Amino acid sequence: MNEKQCPYCYNKITTEENICPTCKKKLNIQCPYCKQMIKAYDEVCPHCTTKLKKSFNPKFLIILGVSLSIIWLILQFTIITVLNYNPQILLEKNKHGELLFALPDYVNLVMQTMLISIIPYIIALVKKYKTRISTTGLIINIVISFCFISYFIYLYQSVK
Ligand SMILES: [Zn+2]
Ligand SMILES: [Zn+2]
Repeated sequence: MNEKQCPYCYNKITTEENICPTCKKKLNIQCPYCKQMIKAYDEVCPHCTTKLKKSFNPKFLIILGVSLSIIWLILQFTIITVLNYNPQILLEKNKHGELLFALPDYVNLVMQTMLISIIPYIIALVKKYKTRISTTGLIINIVISFCFISYFIYLYQSVK
């Protein structure tokens, strides 16, 4: 019995299997070139010898997501340092001149969103559907970062 890796969930499978025992996906597929039945993990079609496209490895998404989180954390530390020296940025000009956002609140928010954005990658490491979870995580990460940066720019411009 030969051991192979499921091209969908990356768990170990044997060549005897027709359906992945973990993700339940069919391992017998049709070659897109010669239409003969091949195995989903085949890198080269045994019938027409065409090189088949390798499926996307979700590990790449996890690495990308974690790197983005680290970059994001560094960016936040820079923002916090700027805010620490220029606390007036957090003073949004309202009628009463009240402090809209205190620095500790901002730090708290950063830490909480950081935890939320890293959760999908932790789940992706232990569960199946790695690609779907890490893609969702990546989208959440980008959206959160975008909101944060726009809010910061908005605050910065409102005190100028
Ligand atoms: Zn599988
Ligand atoms: Zn073929």
